[in-house]
Amino acid sequence: MAKSIAKTAQEPHFFDDVSAFFDHAAQFTKHPQGLLNQIKVCNSVYRFSFPFRRGDQIEVINAWRVEHSQHMSPTKGGIRYSDMVNEDEVMALAALMTYKCAIVNVPFGGAKGGIAINPKNYSVSELENITRRYTVELIKKNFIGPAIDVPAPDYGTGEREMSWIADTYTTMNPGQLDAFGCVTGKPLSLHGISGRKAATGRGVAIAIRECMDVAEDMKGIGLTPGITGKRVIIQGLGNVGYNTAKVLIEFGAIIVGVCEYDGALYNPDGLDPDAILEHRKNTGSILGYKKATQSFKTPAEGLEQACDILVPAALENQLTEENIGRIKAKVIAEGANGPTTPGAADAFVKNGGIIIPDMYCNAGGVTVSYFEWLKNLSHVSFGRMDKRYEEMSNLNLVNTVETITGKSLTSAQRMAIVKGADELELVNSGLEDTMIRSYHEIREIKNSNQAIDTLRTAAFVGSINKIAVSYQNLGIWP
Ligand code: NAD
Repeated sequence: MAKSIAKTAQEPHFFDDVSAFFDHAAQFTKHPQGLLNQIKVCNSVYRFSFPFRRGDQIEVINAWRVEHSQHMSPTKGGIRYSDMVNEDEVMALAALMTYKCAIVNVPFGGAKGGIAINPKNYSVSELENITRRYTVELIKKNFIGPAIDVPAPDYGTGEREMSWIADTYTTMNPGQLDAFGCVTGKPLSLHGISGRKAATGRGVAIAIRECMDVAEDMKGIGLTPGITGKRVIIQGLGNVGYNTAKVLIEFGAIIVGVCEYDGALYNPDGLDPDAILEHRKNTGSILGYKKATQSFKTPAEGLEQACDILVPAALENQLTEENIGRIKAKVIAEGANGPTTPGAADAFVKNGGIIIPDMYCNAGGVTVSYFEWLKNLSHVSFGRMDKRYEEMSNLNLVNTVETITGKSLTSAQRMAIVKGADELELVNSGLEDTMIRSYHEIREIKNSNQAIDTLRTAAFVGSINKIAVSYQNLGIWP
């Protein structure tokens, strides 16, 4: 009989949550306990503080970088700026990165970083100083480098911060050919890759579409198959939430609800994420947006409105045992890391819902980060070498078919067939393939054993097995 992962009286901390999910899944593997312990533990936890001058005051900044597992190198994971960042959170997020990379076959170990600041309280030049000093602290301890540990954006950071990190690292490592591979999520003009910014959200949307397309699973939860017309509520209209919403609309879904830190909006006929962001830019809040039929001053209320799919894409611990009973969605797609506590997840699934787990659902970002790192190591953009060759081959084929059949294509048809793929198309194609394959791999693991109760457990089983093989192949030295 499988052990339950639900904790009763008190909800545990985030790293304990991830460990609880791990232990639950480990029951369905056959690895020695010592190896499982090695996989679960955080290998290196670097906590540091540094002074920051603000006017004539000195402020102490607390920061972390955690490398969870070196079963593959380099390690990889985002950097978060939030005044709620703490060691437990960074450890949990680093661990999730290890499992996430294994799930989508990205050959990295997991890592995560954080600086305990609210970026809204600092000017751009102050943020630059803090980011550069953070990077120098990582360099001093060998916690960053294209073959060591490669950060990326996360909550509160983006292309701008990644540029500062890249510039600091390359300045401190003159002549290092692959230095720009020290960080991903950089802007295109600084050796970034097309499609990285939207990749996590695009991946979340593909994960949802894949889940909704399985007729048998949809029947089980009383929904018709397919994404078209499905009602979605998004929590957090930042990088992940915004891009998820945009791609879901492209796929035919309706964004009926949006929850932000300053309130929530609802309209059963659909909301326009761009118009909401424009409204916030002009007024300072999403509240007051005229095309919403309902508004909520308490953001959490927005999560509880009628919908088919809920996408938490803000922070961890948003769905707890306290509010999960009021959630009307049938599917939770975890865009954020750790948004559902184990107790809440257990209750939701027991009540007949499906959770698309974070470690798979938001893995699109690290997948495209991997492509960016490959681009940085190869020093050439994807498609540059073969686009024209591909177009000429396609043209020859079209000409041959036209000659044999005696029929001609219109110039629009001709263009569509002949055109070679550019970097964005290649990146999106690689991302889509990864998300589709990984979903069905997880689903197959789940269906292979009736005792494997959820997609999350199945995802953990798959990644534990892959990481175990990796550790076993490496051996132990000395
Ligand atoms: P972001 O900073 O771009 O966006 C977060 C958004 O959430 C902001 O708009 C913020 O205002 C909003 N928010 C904050 N508190 C909220 C609350 N209580 N209720 C509603 N909204 C709230 O961050 P992001 O990069 O989109 O990351 C969001 C989540 O996705 C995090 O858990 C992060 O770890 C995860 N994630 C991000 C990436 C990535 O590539 N950026 C990759 C994988 C996972």
